Amino acid sequence: MGTHALGPGRRSVVWVQGCPFHCAGCLAPEWIPDVPARRVAPVDLAAELLADPAVTGLTFSGGEPMEQAAGLAETARLARRARPDLTLVCFTGHRLERLRDRPPNPGVPALLAAADVLIDGLYVAVRDDDRGLRGSANQRVHHLTDRLRHVDLTGGPRRIEVRMRGAEALFVGVPSRAMAALYPPADGRSAQ
Ligand code: SF4
Repeated sequence: MGTHALGPGRRSVVWVQGCPFHCAGCLAPEWIPDVPARRVAPVDLAAELLADPAVTGLTFSGGEPMEQAAGLAETARLARRARPDLTLVCFTGHRLERLRDRPPNPGVPALLAAADVLIDGLYVAVRDDDRGLRGSANQRVHHLTDRLRHVDLTGGPRRIEVRMRGAEALFVGVPSRAMAALYPPADGRSAQ
């Protein structure tokens, strides 16, 4: 089922397991450990992401998507083979300049080439300004193509959705500071 909380329109989201950054106050700490998680081939993941025919885009979050850049780039390629209109928003703790100059693994250039928007930088809790799709004001929204340039992802109110999985509540989106305080991060999912 798509979400409206992690980018414009209705989006299918991938959260990858594992992040090397360990930001203090990370809103998605359960995704930080580099531990075995669900493994899925890009062709199968692309099919899952397209299962909701109403989605208009994909969002890659985590965890650190650049750690699995090749698989995600291939997933995006396969999804767009069926749906060329899909937009792609990707979060990363790296800076765009570093990704371009010294990509941390060989799949990074392909993922950058696939992304319409890259939201970069580490989460800094004291700079969380409760605005936009990025978690803190130091993070930057890069429009790598023109496809989503008309959408303001830096400002505006945040949005969060609550999904029930059995007795467990999952929070999808970038929570407000108030939400983050009310709902312990270990219970949910967030973008960065
Ligand atoms: S905020 Fe993002 S970059 Fe920082 S530790 Fe959490 S998942 Fe990693």
